[in-house]
Amino acid sequence: SKAQLFDKENHVRVNFNDVAGLDEAKVEVMEIVDFLKNPQKYTELGGKIPKGALLVGPPGTGKTLLAKAVAGEANVPFFSLSGSDFVEMFVGVGASRVRDLFKQAKEKAPCIVFIDEIDAIGRARGKNANFSGNDERENTLNQLLTEMDGFGTNVGVIILAATNRADILDRALLRAGRFDRQIYVELPDLNGRAEIFKVHLRPLKLAPELDTSFLAKQTPGFSGADIANVCNEAALVAARKNKKQVDKQDFLDAIDRIIGGLEKKNKIIT
Ligand code: ATP
Repeated sequence: SKAQLFDKENHVRVNFNDVAGLDEAKVEVMEIVDFLKNPQKYTELGGKIPKGALLVGPPGTGKTLLAKAVAGEANVPFFSLSGSDFVEMFVGVGASRVRDLFKQAKEKAPCIVFIDEIDAIGRARGKNANFSGNDERENTLNQLLTEMDGFGTNVGVIILAATNRADILDRALLRAGRFDRQIYVELPDLNGRAEIFKVHLRPLKLAPELDTSFLAKQTPGFSGADIANVCNEAALVAARKNKKQVDKQDFLDAIDRIIGGLEKKNKIIT
């Protein structure tokens, strides 16, 4: 997909036009774009540019997309890792990977470092932490805290992290000078869903009768990722029937399929 495209310098080709809805979150991240583009505007007045912000919200709501769009809008490189990559890692590997990432980021500053699923490394330490066999996770977390504290403010590295469980994070991560800003990325409402449909309908050949408000009404509770799936699935359904355009019925079929998939997923979880 478009969101996966990088050039050699780790630049992403995603901008705010690719992110639909999320108006409040966008306003907040626009400030981060400005920190990256015009740091002197803040530092000349003696301000300290924040080191990080936490994007909080349910799966598939566009947290990764928004982080990439910040890098895209500021035209700076984007470095990322996912907390889940660090689960069950050999001793020393997680911490050294974090160290390498920040070393690269400092060389390429100004830039964005994105840490997806930060809860996988940043979960609060349990009572029995020393006996839980999770030492490498803790090493990784400590390395991350060390890196965040280690580079000065105003070096031009801004760290965005995503989670759907801010409540389980180690308080140390949320302290001033670390992820002291939280930006909420919620499931879209009716209007938000219509906006997201607009983005993902762009590449499709559509029957003229289709309107986004109809589609938005058919998809309560859907995330942006679910809507992207619906649009792609509808195109595949239409192609299977050798149609020249994707029509309303194709979307209804696609929505049924996605709902079926979501129900199955929920059954497995509960
Ligand atoms: P997770 O918590 O599961 O990692 P996420 O919040 O990071 O999810 P993304 O990976 O950004 O979600 O979203 C997945 C895809 O869904 C995006 O690449 C995009 O195609 C689509 N999408 C999600 N939200 C939006 C949105 N607000 N506008 C447009 N597309 C969206």
